Amino acid sequence: KPAQKTVKDYIRTIPDFPHDGILFRDVTTLFADPRGFRMCVDQLLAPYAGMRIDKVVGLEARGFILGGAVAHQLSTGFVPVRKKGKLPGQTISQAYTLEYGEAVVEVHDDALQPGEAVLIVDDLLATGGTAEAGIRLIERLGARVVGCAFVVDLPDLGGRKKLEAMGMDVHALCA
Ligand code: IMP
Repeated sequence: KPAQKTVKDYIRTIPDFPHDGILFRDVTTLFADPRGFRMCVDQLLAPYAGMRIDKVVGLEARGFILGGAVAHQLSTGFVPVRKKGKLPGQTISQAYTLEYGEAVVEVHDDALQPGEAVLIVDDLLATGGTAEAGIRLIERLGARVVGCAFVVDLPDLGGRKKLEAMGMDVHALCA
């Protein structure tokens, strides 16, 4: 009997995307597979069983796909953290550093209430800059992050260390 496929087995790596020398982890093949997608969503939320979670926050864009499924399974609300200029209502913004330059993410200023328990979801943790910006937005609204869940952690890029140094609980399914 062949061994059961793991989440990692459904992810493909594409060389030189979006730039030369980058090995891009492509999770679309994981999302497209019915077994893979269910396994991934189930494993993402498993550590939080029995914990109070009021909202799932997904980071644009693959965090929306995962976060929507996780929120549905946990029966919580879903809140998007989006790139600047995409959200129609009143927002707060957070800038963060990229390899070249700066990016800005936003959240609706009424999307989270003070004291709410939030789970952050995204596909991949690299330097942690994106997740850190999301955490700052959530905390500025007075909510608290009870976990950060990723499908892939690239440990050499230091994201886990950065988030753990902020006191975050980091969960990842594979490296
Ligand atoms: P960080 O901010 O450096 O941790 O980068 C993480 C963000 O970039 C996440 O929102 C990811 O979706 C995206 N990202 C970076 N590298 C990859 C990759 O190889 N595959 C998919 N997404 C990536």
